[in-house]
Amino acid sequence: MTLIDGKVLNILTGANSTQSCPICGASPKQFMSIRDLKSPVFEPKPSTLKYGVSPLHVWIRFLEVRSPEEKNTIKQRKQEIQKNFWEKMGLHINKPKSNGCGSTNDENIANLELFASITNIDIDLLRHFHIILVSISCEFRINFKKFNDFCIDTADLYFNKYDWYPMSATVHKILVHSAQIMEASLVPIGCLGENASEARNKFFKKDRIAHARKNSRSNNIVDVFNRAMDSSDPLLSSICLNNRTKNKLIRRVPHKVTELLELPAVPDNLDVASTSRHEDDDENCSSDDDIGMLSEYSFELEVDIEQDLE
Ligand SMILES: [Zn+2]
Repeated sequence: MTLIDGKVLNILTGANSTQSCPICGASPKQFMSIRDLKSPVFEPKPSTLKYGVSPLHVWIRFLEVRSPEEKNTIKQRKQEIQKNFWEKMGLHINKPKSNGCGSTNDENIANLELFASITNIDIDLLRHFHIILVSISCEFRINFKKFNDFCIDTADLYFNKYDWYPMSATVHKILVHSAQIMEASLVPIGCLGENASEARNKFFKKDRIAHARKNSRSNNIVDVFNRAMDSSDPLLSSICLNNRTKNKLIRRVPHKVTELLELPAVPDNLDVASTSRHEDDDENCSSDDDIGMLSEYSFELEVDIEQDLE
């Protein structure tokens, strides 16, 4: 059960406050006072590591500022930053949307230098945060020991530069617990992201209007639910999968992240006999044939499904 957000996680793990860590139960005060991330205070509570990291929400929450004090100074500074973002990068930041659904917080911020100059946040810390965010979202297996070391370095950087600003529960959860979650997870945690369930929201809106009874609220919701059940059937949801994959925005994995990736282990029983079998067609084989085989496989799978449908 990983297609969830922070609120659901708090309920599942019985966290007593939204400000404290849902995994170890530590309080915001402890986030800052205990600098040793391996401290027993941050020991995860039993069975709290199986809910993934909700990477999509982490991207939005990572630099969120919450401070009721000095309201006017903050308001002024916020307006200044918003103005600069719009003028220099053409981005609307944290403004209510015209349709009333949430606010704009664009995560497609590519130019870190410009971002750092506008927000005045330390660029090294931003780089570290960016690498961590990409690592928890990418669908490759990360070496959790290397990643944990990187998180510890990042926490040190944070404590050195911003010891006056209380760390949010999200940043604490990622820096302290994401390597533990990786270790406890069977597949790369990027594959368990809640993007899939979030992407359904726009369909629910359409379905409520165009594909559900409107004679009562409960009928309306029952129809939307049934339609979601039908369309999530593996056979139905694989229709047009190729087109959807093609339309998916593909981003390059930063070099620093590839250094944190786990290298696939070479099986011990790989003997000469099994490799020489391919010697004849060696010229056709490129070094990245693993990836080629994977995409071929998914292609073949789809052909089968289409035949079944016919
Ligand atoms: Zn914690």
